[in-house]
Amino acid sequence: MSLTEFTCIQCPIGCPLQLTHEGREIVEVKGYSCKRGDKYARQEFVDPRRSLSTTIRIDGALWGRLPVKISGPIPKDKVLDAAKTIHQLRARAPVERGQILLENILGFDGIHVVACREMAKTG
Ligand code: SF4
Repeated sequence: MSLTEFTCIQCPIGCPLQLTHEGREIVEVKGYSCKRGDKYARQEFVDPRRSLSTTIRIDGALWGRLPVKISGPIPKDKVLDAAKTIHQLRARAPVERGQILLENILGFDGIHVVACREMAKTG
């Protein structure tokens, strides 16, 4: 049996998690203070995923940057590619909160780049 350790990132407490496995088969998870930690360790071992929030340029608004995020987590090893793709986007005001700015990022079905806030057109 092998041990893989994680730090839970589901809340600021950051519980240290220990996942015991036989090859790719999970035997048990220890160290969590709530069920979210158990779920996180199992997901992290099988298919680690991350969310992504950043900003892009926007024209015609009071501010020059628009906060955006992806609408769901993607595989951890694709986050950098996603960030590069997002940073090539440029929005134009007006923008609604939740507005889709790019559909199916990197081909992930149903994972869109969305605006995190509304930005009115100026002038
Ligand atoms: S296991 Fe629960 S309490 Fe511990 S860091 Fe994760 S979410 Fe927070």
